[in-house]
Amino acid sequence: HNHIDHASVAKVEAAIAAEDTHAHLPQYEGYRAYAIAGGYEVLKDLRANGDWEAVQDKVLSAGLRGLGGAGFPSGKKWGFVRMNEGPRYLAVNGDEGEPGTFKDRYYLERTPHVFLEGMLIAAWAVEAEKAFIYMRDEYPAVLEILRREIAALEAAGIVEEGYIDLRRGAGAYICGEESAMIESIEGKRGEPRHRPPFVAQVGIFGQPTLVHNVETLYWVTKINREGPECLNAVEKNGRKGLRSYSVSGRVKNPGVHLLPAGSTILDVIEAAGGMLDGHAFKAYQPGGPSSGLLPAHMDDIPLDFDTLQPHGSFIGSAAVVVLSDQDSARDAALNMLRFFEDESCGQCTPCRVGCEKAVKLMQAEKWDQDLLEELSAAMIDTSICGLGQAAPNPIRLTIKHFPEEV
Ligand code: SF4
Repeated sequence: HNHIDHASVAKVEAAIAAEDTHAHLPQYEGYRAYAIAGGYEVLKDLRANGDWEAVQDKVLSAGLRGLGGAGFPSGKKWGFVRMNEGPRYLAVNGDEGEPGTFKDRYYLERTPHVFLEGMLIAAWAVEAEKAFIYMRDEYPAVLEILRREIAALEAAGIVEEGYIDLRRGAGAYICGEESAMIESIEGKRGEPRHRPPFVAQVGIFGQPTLVHNVETLYWVTKINREGPECLNAVEKNGRKGLRSYSVSGRVKNPGVHLLPAGSTILDVIEAAGGMLDGHAFKAYQPGGPSSGLLPAHMDDIPLDFDTLQPHGSFIGSAAVVVLSDQDSARDAALNMLRFFEDESCGQCTPCRVGCEKAVKLMQAEKWDQDLLEELSAAMIDTSICGLGQAAPNPIRLTIKHFPEEV
C-alpha cells in the first residue's frame, strides 16, 4: 500500500501548477474594454482642467457616504485631508472582513476599473502622492485582477509605475479599522490608534491620509460619469440613494442586491428570492455582527444609515443575514461574541477581557442579565475602538428581543 506512483503524482502536481498560474479568474471588464467604453475620460479631463471643489460638490450633492460602514459624507473627507500640508496619501480599505459582507468583492470581480478610476479621481482631488490598496488575502482572484489591471494602467501611462501600491492583508478583522489598517500598511501590528489626531491629519507615516472603502470609490466614478442623480434621484421611504446589500442566510438567492437605501428587510428578502422553502422569517442581522439581531416583527425600518440607531443597531456595511425559525438567536449572538473574542486585537482590557467574559456568561444555561449589562456598559464606555464598543450590541439586542431564549 505504500507504493507511490511517481508518474501520476508528477502529473497531478503539474496540473495544479498549471492551474495556479492561470488562477480561476471570473469574467470581468478589463482595461481595454473599459477604456473603449469611455473609461478614464473623466479622470483625464479632470487632470487636464478640473476643479476639485466642483467634483467635491457633485459627490456631496449625490449624498455619497462611506460605504465601509461608518457612513461619513465622502466629499467632506476630501476637504479635511486637503486642509493639511502634504505629502498626502490615499489608502483604500479593501479588507472587507465584516462577516456577511462581500459587496466589494462583487464589484471588484466584475468591474475593477470603475473602482480604480474612482480611486484615481479621489487621489487627484486631494493631490495624493501615492495610493495604497489594502486588500484582503482571502480574495485571491481579486488580487490577481488588481495586479493585472494596475499593470495595464501603468502600461497605458495612466499612472506612474509604483504609484498604486497593492498590499495584502493577513486575515485580521481589526485591520479593517482604518487606523489599524494604517499601522499594518506601515508594517506594524494592526492595532487601532487613539483619536484625535484623525487619519485625515496624521495617517500613513504621519502624513494626511484619505481613507475610502472600495465601494465608495466605485460610486465616485458613477457620480462623475452619470451625474449625482444616479444616487440622489432614487427615493424610497423618505431615504435617498442606493445600498449594496450583501444578503445571506435562509433566502433563496443570497448575493449582492442593489436596492434603494430606504428598503426594509422585507424588500431585501424579496429581492433575494424570498425565504427558503420550509423556513419562516424569525430575525435578521442588519449590518454585520456588531449590529446584533433584530426580530422579524421590526420589518418596516428602512435599512439605511441613521435609521437603526434608535433601535440600538446600525446598517454598517449592509451585511444582512436572515435567520429562520430553525435558527437560535441565542446561538447566533454567542457566535458573534466568539468572533469578537477571536478578533479583538487585545490592546485594551475592556475589549480583550470583556469579550472573553461575555462568551463565558453566554454559555451558561441561563444568562446573568444584570452582569452582562454591567459588562456591556463598561465595554461600550471604555474600549478604544469600535470593535469593543459595538461588541455588546448582540448581547443587549438578544436580551431585549429574544428574552425567552436567554
Ligand atoms: Fe483592540 Fe478591542 Fe481595544 Fe479595539 S477595542 S483597540 S480591538 S482591544
